[in-house]
This record gives sequence, C-alpha cells and structure tokens, in this order.
Amino acid sequence: MSALIINGKAFAASVREKVAEHVARLKNEHGITPGLAVVLVGEDPASQVYVRSKGKQTVEVGMNSYAHKLDASTSEDALLGLIEKLNNDPVVHGILVQLPLPKHLDEDLVINSIDPAKDVDGFHISNVGLLGTGQKSMVPCTPLGSLMLLRDHHRSLSGMDAVVIGRSNIVGKPMAQLLLGDSCTVTITHSRTKDLPDLVRRADIVIAAVGRPEMVLGDWIKPGATVIDVGINRIDKPEGGTRLVGDVDFESCAAVAGAITPVPGGVGPMTIACLLANTVTACCRANGLEEPDGLSA
Ligand code: NAD
Repeated sequence: MSALIINGKAFAASVREKVAEHVARLKNEHGITPGLAVVLVGEDPASQVYVRSKGKQTVEVGMNSYAHKLDASTSEDALLGLIEKLNNDPVVHGILVQLPLPKHLDEDLVINSIDPAKDVDGFHISNVGLLGTGQKSMVPCTPLGSLMLLRDHHRSLSGMDAVVIGRSNIVGKPMAQLLLGDSCTVTITHSRTKDLPDLVRRADIVIAAVGRPEMVLGDWIKPGATVIDVGINRIDKPEGGTRLVGDVDFESCAAVAGAITPVPGGVGPMTIACLLANTVTACCRANGLEEPDGLSA
C-alpha cells in the first residue's frame, strides 16, 4: 500500500472543535446560542440512528438541539405547518428534515418550504441555484466535507482534473459544483456513462458516490491520484456478520493512489461535522456577525 490514508475522523473532530470555539464566542460575546431543529417523520431505523447522532453532536458543541419526531402518518399540511413555525422561530438557526420521507409526502415541496437561510442541508432550490452560480449559499454537508478534506490535502485544487462518479442531488451534482468553484476541470459520470474506467484513469481527483460496494478498482486509478470514497455499503462477511465498505475497492486503489479516504473513518464523519458547521454559519449570517473561517465553501 502506498497511498496516504486521509483521516476523516480526526479532521471531523477538528471541525467540531472549531465549531465549539465559535459557539462559545457567540454565547460569551453576543448572548446567542445557535440552534438546530431536526425533523424526523416515521420510524425508519437508520434515520432514527442518524437523528440521535445529530442531536448528540449538536449538544456536544454547545448548540441547542430541537428534535421533532412525527408519526409516519403525519399529513403534508401538518409537516408544512411545523416547518413554517420553525422558519419563524428566532432560536432556530438551522432546520433539517431527515430523508427519506414516507411516500405520501412530497420531498421537494417539503424541502423547498424551509427558509433557505436555515436550510443547513443545502437542498433548497435557492441554495442549489446560489451554489451553481458561485454565490454564497448553504452547501450540502457530504460534498462540503469532501471538499474540506481535499483542500486540506492539496491546498490548491486549481487546474486539477476531477471525475465525480454519481449525479445525485445530494452528493454528485453539488460536489461537481464545488470542484468547479475551486477551478478543477470536472467530469460528471453516472450509470449511463461509457468507458467509465477510462475516464477515471485521467483524473487527479476521483470522487466515488455511487452506492455500489467496491466498484472502483485499482487499475482505474491514475498513479498518485486522490480518491475520495463517499460510498457507505454494508456487505456480508464470508465468516458471517457484516462490514462497511465504500464504493472503492480500498486495497487495490490504495496501492496506486497518492491519497485515499477509508470507509469507515473517511468522508462519513465529515457529514455531521459539516452540518454543525453549517448551523453556526447560518446563525452568524442571521445575526449579521462574522462567519468562522474555514467552515464553509
Ligand atoms: P444515489 O443512489 O442517489 O445516486 C447514485 C448515483 O450513482 C446515480 O447518479 C447513478 O447514476 C450513479 N451510478 C449508479 N450505478 C453506476 C455505475 N455502475 N456507474 C456509474 N455511476 C453509477 O446515491 P447517493 O445518495 O449519491 O449516495 C451515493 C453513495 O454515497 C451511497 O453509498 C450512500 O450511502 C453514500 N452516502 C454517504 C454519505 C456520507 O455521509 N458519507 C452521505 C450521502 C450518501
């Protein structure tokens, strides 16, 4: 193995530390405590785990956490009513509606009812447009975390060839916009892309956000390239039980890459850290105060 292993877990801890310092300053100097409201509809077990973890980490950095757990049968009107209330609540600086929502609720309608200034997931159509036009926006957490890791490793990404595998609204598309914003030459690939391995072989930076376990192989990677593995897939172990793997075949890619994120312990921990960063950023913007350095795009 030759690649440097990018330690997302340690980097996420440093982001949380910066957030906590800024939260303390907001409290001491301005009497303001940033608040994050998380809305969970239904009983999806994975969503429950994420929401618990988000609440716990929010409190750990000194912010207020407001959890709203609604029944799976909640009507769209009731959910929109709650969001309206949170939009107008001055102690709430960030609002996150945990996805996926139950089938009877229109996700786009719900997300677009959040005040864009409080949309700490960065999924509101206004934030998507602001990001796409290079303006100040709320940036989706997983791509923001991936960008932070890349900037920390390379300092400047200017002129680098980047291939993003996956075109989801949550990861692939905003990731491509962020890389473009940092002056990379960006190729977005997806399930219909021809000759994917050949395209990936040209990349100085590879972002894998596919949802297919260990799909990207070592002989797709240009020697010395940086590989950011966003994928989180649970697979069966031959000896029984399960383990987490990314969208990248770690062993073969690490033998060729210059740097690579592991799964777990790479991009994963950055996502919640960036949610906290977005909440403190939203709070500063709402109050016309200086934003913390290095916590936004
Ligand atoms: P998605 O299913 O919405 O999108 C997957 C994308 O991969 C699609 O655009 C599709 O076109 C593309 N794709 C599918 N098969 C392909 C193939 N054979 N070749 C090329 N492209 C192909 O998934 P998503 O929400 O973007 O998530 C992607 C992965 O990232 C998943 O494993 C998910 O669990 C993980 N994820 C991790 C975090 C985190 O916190 N680290 C956050 C979000 C998503």
